[in-house]
Amino acid sequence: MTARQERQWAALLKEFSSRQIELRCVPLHLSRGGLACHKGKWFCLISDFSSLREMIETAAHELAHWDLHQQDPRETGDPSLELEAEEGGKAILSMMERSYGDILADSLRW
Ligand SMILES: [Zn+2]
Repeated sequence: MTARQERQWAALLKEFSSRQIELRCVPLHLSRGGLACHKGKWFCLISDFSSLREMIETAAHELAHWDLHQQDPRETGDPSLELEAEEGGKAILSMMERSYGDILADSLRW
């Protein structure tokens, strides 16, 4: 795991935990991951058959589903929702990459 991946994974764990969602790596054969509710508790399941890069991308994608599609954030197969989650996941990862200095510089630019 690179230092960057370590930071991304730690940031994702924190985001899921702040939403009371448990992020769990499990052996999923048919999917890279998804959100599931069991006895009132939400889980984000990530296939540990994926590469670490894929696991990070999938977790960010699922986090975007949660934030954008709260009515039912589970995988719907609806292409427009999947596209939104894909773009949202990329945005989440790119925000995580930005340093405090970058964010401060942006806020001073207006
Ligand atoms: Zn999806």
